[in-house]
Amino acid sequence: MDYFSIIYKDPLFSIIVIIAIITLVAIADYTKNRYKQKIKQQSLSDFAKNFENYGTDENIGSLLDTSKYPASTFTFIANIYVANGNFGEAIKMYLTILDKTQNLGEKIQTLELLGMAYYKAGFMQRAKNIFIEILKHHPRNTKVLLMLVQTYEILGEYKNALSVVSCLEEIDEKVDEVKKYMQILILINDSLMPLNEREIEILNINKTSKITNKIVLNYFKTYNIQRFWELIYASSDILNYIDILWNIKNPPIDKIKDNKHIADVYRAKGIICDDIECDIFELEALRLMNKYSGKVGNLGFKYKCSFCQGIYPFEVFRCPNCSELGGIHLVLEIMEDTYETNHNLL
Ligand SMILES: [Zn+2]
Repeated sequence: MDYFSIIYKDPLFSIIVIIAIITLVAIADYTKNRYKQKIKQQSLSDFAKNFENYGTDENIGSLLDTSKYPASTFTFIANIYVANGNFGEAIKMYLTILDKTQNLGEKIQTLELLGMAYYKAGFMQRAKNIFIEILKHHPRNTKVLLMLVQTYEILGEYKNALSVVSCLEEIDEKVDEVKKYMQILILINDSLMPLNEREIEILNINKTSKITNKIVLNYFKTYNIQRFWELIYASSDILNYIDILWNIKNPPIDKIKDNKHIADVYRAKGIICDDIECDIFELEALRLMNKYSGKVGNLGFKYKCSFCQGIYPFEVFRCPNCSELGGIHLVLEIMEDTYETNHNLL
């Protein structure tokens, strides 16, 4: 029996060989992961440098170098700046933290906050680039995916927004209504598609959507007034559409008289003159004013979010404060029509 066959048959030797192999594989794996993490960190640092026109804050930077407090303390202060609308200071702090921190998790978290600050400050292109960069590292980050949808929406890049919605769908997020909303926005803005084809697709999607009816009504008011009236006669939510009805010139009064809710709008406006009371308080007040007073009244509109109670002087479909869709309701406001009053005096 030669020397090597003794070694091969020795169980202790086999165990040593196996342990050595496992150790080598573990070391190789660890080195590979360290290298990957370093590359990621470097790419994030390089990426963050693209946004440094706000400049990093030297004082915060040196404080971060010497302080025993973790970077999260400084992130907390930057978040307070964001809450108070001081985006410039917040962005500077986030950029400084990004510059100083070596921890990959902290870098991603800070980058997310920086993206949100840019979004709130209205720098949509920068916010978009940051959200895309984060998703390269964490493609299933739902919060960032939702933020990217909203950013694309504000930038008018509805097709890109829809593809992000599809990603959310794949990870089982409930985005059915958002998907229909994006599809409607794409169709409405697709000027190359023939009008009749567009109309069929818009009506088809709108049939099952809970949040797109007003967008579709506004579209048909411009492109097919007959279809607009058909849709609004079939609608059960006239209160929310009074602003559209109020501004329509030459409404088909004979047809409208059959629909009490729609007719009330034109009673308040003084176009239908009968003695039928309006159901809505503001409309009835205007009807009586038109009939019995020398004052000329008008209707003003505000838009209130039922989720966060935010009120806006202009129409929005997604709440600018809480970003919810489908929660905006019309608020009526009686006001004196000074133009009409002055005009009558001339
Ligand atoms: Zn809201």
